[in-house]
Amino acid sequence: MNAFARLLLAIEFAAGRHRHQRRKDAEASPYINHPIALAALLAETGGVDDLVTLQAAILHDTLEDTETTYDELFHLFGKEVADVVLEVTDDKTLEPAMRKHLQVEHAPHKSERAALVKLADKTCNLRDIVTSAPAGWSLERQREYFDWAKRVVDGLPKVNAAMESAFDDAWRARP
Ligand code: NDP
Ligand code: ZN
Repeated sequence: MNAFARLLLAIEFAAGRHRHQRRKDAEASPYINHPIALAALLAETGGVDDLVTLQAAILHDTLEDTETTYDELFHLFGKEVADVVLEVTDDKTLEPAMRKHLQVEHAPHKSERAALVKLADKTCNLRDIVTSAPAGWSLERQREYFDWAKRVVDGLPKVNAAMESAFDDAWRARP
């Protein structure tokens, strides 16, 4: 199977799994717009052409936010993709505050591919907050999110200067 087919299959799979979900912005955008935005940012701004990274970006929220299992990703997309998705997945049995703390703690130990996906995820989330903040988020909560995202990103291994500068640009728009 060629690379285009593999990437499109990941998009089709993620779209199916997220089909009933919406983002937190005021317009409640379809969830799948977000993983597609990550992959587009990585390819366009980051110059990333590594299929595993782009597939992992598309699939990055399937373990955390849908019923998808690691084994399914393993069988459909292979171990490398499944491992990157697992690396960017929080342990949902933990309290939100602990999960946020662990993202900061674990950032320095991420693989290059996981660091790229995390950079793209945080950059897209900051952009989304500036464009249309989640309903009910105070200015203080938006700022807290920006500051936490920066702590995570500052801890990641330096893997792609263009992506790091895209994050910095997004952070400069801090509300
Ligand atoms: P989060 O603060 O974790 O919500 C942000 C997450 O929602 C993002 O990481 C992103 O996840 C996803 N998301 C969906 N839509 C959007 C969007 N449009 N823009 C940006 N992100 C979006 O939410 P929780 O409910 O889990 O909150 C937990 C933490 O929030 C607590 O630990 C507490 O510290 C803090 N909090 C602060 C408050 C305050 O007023 N200061 C009030 C309540 C909580 P993804 O990575 O999946 O893309
Ligand atoms: Zn995400």
